[in-house]
Amino acid sequence: MEKKTQKIEIPLPVPGHGAELIDTHCHLDMSAYEVDFEAVLARALAAGVTRIISVGIDLESSRRAIGLAEQHQGIYATVGVHPHNVAELSEADYAELQSLCRHAKVVAYGEIGLDYVKNYAPIALQKEHFARQVALAKDLQLPLVVHDREAHDDIMEILEAAGPFPAGGVMHCFSGDAAFVRRVLTLGFHISIPGVVTFAKAEMLHEAVREIPLASLVLETDGPFLAPVPKRGKRNEPQLMLFTAQKVAELKGVSLEEVARQTTMNAVRLFGLEG
Ligand SMILES: [Zn+2]
Repeated sequence: MEKKTQKIEIPLPVPGHGAELIDTHCHLDMSAYEVDFEAVLARALAAGVTRIISVGIDLESSRRAIGLAEQHQGIYATVGVHPHNVAELSEADYAELQSLCRHAKVVAYGEIGLDYVKNYAPIALQKEHFARQVALAKDLQLPLVVHDREAHDDIMEILEAAGPFPAGGVMHCFSGDAAFVRRVLTLGFHISIPGVVTFAKAEMLHEAVREIPLASLVLETDGPFLAPVPKRGKRNEPQLMLFTAQKVAELKGVSLEEVARQTTMNAVRLFGLEG
């Protein structure tokens, strides 16, 4: 007899009481969303994810993020150059980055940082451009969106030297342990939790989430990457952040609605969004 594999769809845990969520980090401008962009937004809205911050990784994607923010009320943009893309940065690029930041819907500077896993750009150049962009963001009084892969100590060294940051910042796609949580919080930064938190083996991240006060926590998809369980390996999109929110609620021992309420309030304050 042939075994029948039955596909059971795990329903999206949509919060009650009309609770809204904000996806603080998604790459909406990427080609992965081209075919069904409007449907992605509609599904997000239906799930309560009413606002999405589209994050730039180079000049081109920063421009595109601003374009999307101009066309859609619930979309905001960031401007910045990811560590993968810093090798070719010119003075003219810096001038344009600065001028893009004056757009009314640009709510943060990033994503910027250090990536010691892929090392697409030499470490010395990554550090130089991270420090320079941190200084630029500080000048512009914009919160920072920081990308940190296996570079905790160098990230903190650069940030601690450039601080304090009255406009704050967020450590996106957090991957540190509980001790690193405390170090990031000392800087006054928020910590953004990705779908990775739903992975069974992400025990260090589970421990970190327990350590982070709800007042310092925001949520993200990092879409189209890193879809949460039960969609792991598929394209990620903002509505799937509900699975991430539910896991955070479970780890913190609070309701999904409470996670939605707190993380939305935190994101509104950090990025200076409307109520
Ligand atoms: Zn990202």
